[in-house]
Amino acid sequence: MGSPNGFENGSVSGGGECSAAFTGGGSGSSSLIFLGTGCSSAVPNARCLIQPSDPPCTVCAQSLSLPPERNPNYRCNTSLLIEFCQDDGVHSYILIDVGKTFREQVLRWFTHHKIPQVDSIILTHEHADAVLGLDDIRVVQPFSVTNDIDPTPVYLTQYAMDSIALKFPYLLKKKLKEGEELRRVAQLDWKIIESDPGKTFTTLGLEFVPLPVIHGEDYISLGFLFGRKSRVAYISDVSRFPASTEKLISKSGAGQLDLLILDTLYKDNSHNTHFCFPQTLDAVKRICPKQALLIGMTHEFDHHRDNMFLAEWSKREGIPVQLAHDGLRMFVDL
Ligand SMILES: [Zn+2]
Ligand SMILES: [Zn+2]
Repeated sequence: MGSPNGFENGSVSGGGECSAAFTGGGSGSSSLIFLGTGCSSAVPNARCLIQPSDPPCTVCAQSLSLPPERNPNYRCNTSLLIEFCQDDGVHSYILIDVGKTFREQVLRWFTHHKIPQVDSIILTHEHADAVLGLDDIRVVQPFSVTNDIDPTPVYLTQYAMDSIALKFPYLLKKKLKEGEELRRVAQLDWKIIESDPGKTFTTLGLEFVPLPVIHGEDYISLGFLFGRKSRVAYISDVSRFPASTEKLISKSGAGQLDLLILDTLYKDNSHNTHFCFPQTLDAVKRICPKQALLIGMTHEFDHHRDNMFLAEWSKREGIPVQLAHDGLRMFVDL
């Protein structure tokens, strides 16, 4: 795998794989599978196709000529699947976020990477692009016409819980009322976590440190720090880092990350609720991880063109950074 900086993003075919500086892969390895690397409206942006600009948006137009699995500019809502290989060799699957495009992500990437189920779910926050696929979780659970299965744990803040109780009341209900028909729905076991790095939680043997970040000045979203052997931070929705959070993931603070996965929305300027490219690259420089992959991109980003720019930037700054793409699997020792 000889791409610059150790990333295998150059030729996308059936997802692409990357072992980079981590492990060699194979059945005994943990891996990170990027189920989605796009913004809330996803890419292509539907408006670009039904009301094309003049000249047309080349990134969105690609979706009409290239199948999604060979189009790194086809981006679903941000979501990461952690395939965790435990010490006994058992593989379990931890899903971060279940957005509007979850079903499409299952159809495309669970089949390609042979993922049979989801064992645990973690939510960063309760926005539509992080939770509106929760209804479809039933397709990644065992089948039972009587809902008689072990519920899948979902880790989320109380704030997110209150919002989901309004969006999906039927996913919280326990007992049927008198005369009410049984209907098959996802079986979920809600587990409240705190927006506090001191309050870590463990699911399926993997410990997670919540990383509170500002996502618009009136809102806290969570990133997560995980991995005992390789330290990985996943931060999908951020407009500003509180100093205490940044310290936990910085080389100059709690120690250098092996991998930083970080939000970037637009190419230029700034945005009130997300990092854009300039703020993302500034943050990468300050945090100084061994490697970084960017997610959450709009149609302003062209995968190949902007990764060429990033290859130059990486050489100059000494930190390998690339745009991730949907389907990318990175083998990593967790
Ligand atoms: Zn477009
Ligand atoms: Zn959000």
